[in-house]
Amino acid sequence: MIEVVELTKVFGAGTSKPTTVLDEIDFTVDSGEIFAVVGPSGAGKSTLARCLNLLERPTSGKVVVNGEDLTALGTSGLRDARRRIGTVFQSSSLLARRTAAENVALPLEYLGATKASTRARVADLLDLVGLADKANLYPHQLSGGQRQRVGIARALALKPSVLLSDEATSGLDPAATDTFLNLLTEVRDELGLAVVFITHEMDTIVRVADTVGRLDHGRIVEHGRLDDLVLDPDSVLGRALRPRGP
Ligand code: ATP
Ligand code: MG
Repeated sequence: MIEVVELTKVFGAGTSKPTTVLDEIDFTVDSGEIFAVVGPSGAGKSTLARCLNLLERPTSGKVVVNGEDLTALGTSGLRDARRRIGTVFQSSSLLARRTAAENVALPLEYLGATKASTRARVADLLDLVGLADKANLYPHQLSGGQRQRVGIARALALKPSVLLSDEATSGLDPAATDTFLNLLTEVRDELGLAVVFITHEMDTIVRVADTVGRLDHGRIVEHGRLDDLVLDPDSVLGRALRPRGP
């Protein structure tokens, strides 16, 4: 599980023009739960993603994974901390000169895993994302949806407790989006990960989220179970999430 406690990010702190981009964000995502974070452009979603996996140092607050506060770790502990959270980005950032299998192998190589164990793990992961037959293709030979699935496989390589995805379905067609969302629910149900799914697309949320948080100007302004929000006539999120009538 991941617990985020009063997470705050101020850019330009100490200058004459500080900007608070995240303002005391609180939420908890249990293992086996998908938490969707939704919000308009500029709300702070990507900054939140980067603070969760500590690509960006939060100004204050905590990111606690399975009881361990990642923000309290020193630089040497950061590498370990990052292993707990696997991330899939918008344009999966695969290395162009490496095949699908070699991209998935990357985190294992950094870790110094043996060739044999890496090969076996990569085969399992590509199988999980349904790309066993594409192992030797390069990113430019894969569709956008397939690239995103390689991104998931790579994010899962080090057996993280949390899977974080930032706009990972943006730019995918409906079929590829479906496949991606199904994979997220598998990761939740079969691997039991806590999933943080960041998006601006309401229709994807309805299909996968257990809980939803609405981010606006760096604050979570609404937060609850998807089912409850959809039924709540006073909820802004609920209104946006309810299926539109004919
Ligand atoms: P989008 O939906 O367009 O991806 P977002 O919700 O992901 O938007 P962020 O990328 O987190 O938004 O940006 C939130 C705000 O933080 C923006 O106003 C942006 O200008 C500001 N910001 C992001 N990174 C920095 C930085 N390094 N320095 C200063 N301001 C920044
Ligand atoms: Mg963003």
